[in-house]
Formats: sequence, structure tokens, C-alpha cells
Amino acid sequence: MYDFVVVGVGPPGARFARRAAEDGYDVLAVEKGTIGEPLACSGHVSTDIWEFTGDGAREELFQNEIYGARFHVGGPHSEAYPFYKDEVASNVIDRVGLDRHLADLAREAGADVREGHTVTAVTEHHDRVEVTANGPDGTVEFEAKMLAGCDGARSRVRDELDLPEPDELLHGVLAFSEEDDHQNFVDVHLTAPTFFAWRIPRGDAGVEYGLAAPPGVQVTKHFEELIDGYEIDVSHRCSGPIPIGPPDRVTSRRAFLIGDAAAQTKPFTGGGILYSMTSADHAAREIDPDRPTTLAAYEHAWRDDLEREQELGHYLRRAYSLPEPVQHLGLGALSGEIGVHMDRPTSLVSPSHLKAMLSRSRD
Ligand SMILES: Cc1cc2nc3c(=O)[nH]c(=O)nc-3n(C[C@H](O)[C@H](O)[C@H](O)COP(=O)(O)OP(=O)(O)OC[C@H]3O[C@@H](n4cnc5c(N)ncnc54)[C@H](O)[C@@H]3O)c2cc1C
Repeated sequence: MYDFVVVGVGPPGARFARRAAEDGYDVLAVEKGTIGEPLACSGHVSTDIWEFTGDGAREELFQNEIYGARFHVGGPHSEAYPFYKDEVASNVIDRVGLDRHLADLAREAGADVREGHTVTAVTEHHDRVEVTANGPDGTVEFEAKMLAGCDGARSRVRDELDLPEPDELLHGVLAFSEEDDHQNFVDVHLTAPTFFAWRIPRGDAGVEYGLAAPPGVQVTKHFEELIDGYEIDVSHRCSGPIPIGPPDRVTSRRAFLIGDAAAQTKPFTGGGILYSMTSADHAAREIDPDRPTTLAAYEHAWRDDLEREQELGHYLRRAYSLPEPVQHLGLGALSGEIGVHMDRPTSLVSPSHLKAMLSRSRD
């Protein structure tokens, strides 16, 4: 019997497997396909990402550094309102490479990481969890004291355990052009209903164009308008769900969810890489596989850390739906240098942000 079986080896699955293995637990992590594939993510992250990686990661994964974002109420040729820091705010990285790197770290820590295993059923008992998976050699069964559901926005583990779903599932699309662009700004277009479209320069790796919106919105139509506006050819189209709004409960008797399965994302960007790995650390620190009552400590720990950020993130997202004249006014008034941490909206009231605002008013 394993101490932990981890389902899904994206950032939180790999991170939790690594941390639990480092703590001496017997860990099996199963991934349904090949780790990192298919790509459905921009890999735009705060520089905090490097606190979660190992030796040589930056040389291997880094693509571009970003100082800020130009916000547009309209499409590509509309007025730009720049928001920027006086230092690097974020990095654009190779997301497929990140997943592989994090999985390697989990393996090095002693976790048994297996690709090509799709979990199809989960049964909880008072003393263990049974996991059924389809592997390369047919159906296999595993037993664990605890189960970590890190299997993404459409989590099978969540369904099997009848855990509640996230509030909302946005539909995100991406495509890439071959432009060589080392600019340090991303462009954000508030043209998609309740969310936005984006352009991310990825250095030698080309430029990424993307858009996310709720179900019912004609995402493809809005995306084509974005591409047409930029007058560019794109290829390698891909798409994926973005969960927003965590459910009230992400733990059961002997299982817990981390990452997109638990909607541990930023409501105003959909970003989840950093929140999911931060939550994986909370899980690894709090959960003892021999003491199911410790699951409650995990629920408290990740919510204590991220709930206020997510609440504020919801308010920020509401601005995407304001009438256009109000958006112009607001962006015009607030644009300029900022001191906000992109993962921590509460830093809007931080000394560094206030300092940046004050230095503007002196200019
Ligand atoms: C278009 C788009 C752009 C994004 N851009 C960013 C960004 O720039 N920055 C950012 O921080 N976040 C971004 N995100 C969000 C980010 O991708 C997720 O928050 C992050 O990947 C969450 O990791 P996860 O492991 O929880 O889920 P996933 O990355 O979806 O990984 C889940 C893993 O579980 C596996 N799995 C699923 N079901 C099973 C099963 N039954 N058995 C075994 N394995 C299974 C999957 O194959 C997958 O490897 C973006 C998302 C989208 C859709």
C-alpha cells in the first residue's frame, strides 16, 4: 500500500509528489499521457516560479522577461494603457519543459512517476483508497492511504468522489506565430466577454496569441478577429479549460484535490501554475496519510493563504465587464508604474505599490 497515490503530473501533482517523497513517504504518481502534453498554457508566470524549480531550470526553460502589460479596451490598433514595474515582473517560460522538469525532481526525490496510466475509478474505504487505472499492459489497481487528485479542471477524481465542482469553466484558446519578438510587454485586449484576449512575445519561441471566455461565447469568432486585427498567420492552435472559483470543499475522507481540480487559480487571469504549487506545498506540509483528520488542516492552510487573493481577483475581473467609456477612464487614470505582485492582488495596498503611485504623482 502506498502512502499517497497522486493522479495527474502537472505542476501541483509533481510538486506534491516531490515534497511527500522528500518527507520519506512512499509515493506513486500516475499521468494519463506524456508529461507536459498536450500544451494548453501560456507559461506566463511571476519570477517566483524559480523558487519551485531545480538546478539549471532557468537556462532550460526561460523564454522572455516581461516588465508590464499594455491594456486595450479594443482590438490590436486601439489605444494602449501601459502598466509596468521598474523591474522584471514576470517570465515567459517553456511550459512543456516545466512539467518535465518538475516530474524529474519528483523522481529524484524518490517518487514512482508513471506515464501512460489513466485513472478510471476511485473507491474510498475507511482505511484506504482503491485506484483503478488503464495502463500500457491493461487495467491495474493501486491502494493508498491517501489520494491526491491533481488531474486538472475536468478532474475524474473529483467526479468519482462526488466533490463539488468549481463555479465556472472558461474556454481558453492559443496559437503561435513565428515572429521573433523580444519585447518586454504583453498586450491585453478587453474584447472577449467577461475576460480578455492576449499577445505574449516569447523571444526566439515566437509570439503567442490567446483568448479566454465563458461557455456560450463564440470563442473562435473572437479569436479570429484578434488574429485578423494583428494581420498575422498562426499555427499550432490548442485549447483548454480554465476553472474559476473554488468549490467549498476540496477534501473527502481520504482524498484531496490540488490545482485546477480545486480551481486554485487567479480569477482575473486564469493563471494557476503558482497557486497550484503553493497549494501543493500546503498539502505536503499539513497532510499525514495516517491521520485523515489532517485533511482539514490542508483546507484551512491553502484558503488562509489564497482566499483573499482570489476574492480580490474576482473584483478585478469585474472591471473587464464595465462599459467601455468607464474602462477608458479607469485605465487612463491608473496606468503607469505599479508595484503590484502579479500573483498577489492584495499587494495593491503594499508599500512598493504605494511608493510607485506616489513617485508618479511627483513626476
Ligand atoms: C489557454 C490557457 C492558458 C493558460 N496560461 C497560463 C499562464 O500563462 N500562467 C499560469 O500560471 N497558468 C496558465 N494557465 C492555467 C494553468 O495551465 C493551470 O492552472 C495549471 O496547468 C494547473 O495545473 P494542474 O496540474 O492542476 O492541471 P493540468 O495542467 O491540466 O494537469 C493535469 C494533469 O492530469 C492529467 N490527468 C487528467 N486526468 C487524468 C486521469 N484520469 N488519470 C491520470 N492523469 C490524468 C493530465 O493529463 C494532466 O497532465 C492557462 C490555462 C489555459 C487553458
